[in-house]
Amino acid sequence: APQQKTVKDYIRTIVDFPHEGIMFRDVTTLFADPRGFRMAVDQMLHPYAGQRIDKVVGLEARGFILGGAIAHQLGTGFVPIRKKGKLPGKTISEAYTLEYGEAIVELHDDAIEPGETILLVDDLLATGGTAEAGIKLVERLGGKILSCAFVIDLPELGGRQKLEAMGMDVSVLCE
Ligand code: 5GP
Repeated sequence: APQQKTVKDYIRTIVDFPHEGIMFRDVTTLFADPRGFRMAVDQMLHPYAGQRIDKVVGLEARGFILGGAIAHQLGTGFVPIRKKGKLPGKTISEAYTLEYGEAIVELHDDAIEPGETILLVDDLLATGGTAEAGIKLVERLGGKILSCAFVIDLPELGGRQKLEAMGMDVSVLCE
């Protein structure tokens, strides 16, 4: 009998993107497939069945696609964390280091109420720098992060350990 496809089977690898030596894990093929996309969203939600979540926070840009679908399914609001200069209202910001240089992410300062329970969502966990900046933003507004959910973890880059050392619960669909 044919084997049922898993989330991992829908993810494509692009060699030498965005530059030489990088194996880019491309989730556009997962999102484009009706079974794949639903499977990913359902599996990301599954650990939190019956638990209170007030808002889903998604990291730009693929965290918006997953986070929007997850928030709709949970019946919660969705809040974006964006790269510097994109959000129109008053923001708080966090800088983090990239392979080359620094990046800044922002969150509207009124997007989360103190004490709200947050599910943080992105497509991929590498060094954990992006997620760490997102966690700090949420916590600065008094949000309590229930968990950080990703489709993919690249374990050799240590992101999961970094987030767990901050006391975070981390869930991933594949490595
Ligand atoms: P980190 O901050 O954990 O080092 O990198 C994770 C961030 O970079 C995430 O926002 C993720 O979307 C992006 N990213 C890094 N490498 C890849 C990759 O191979 N595939 C995809 N889809 N995103 C990546």
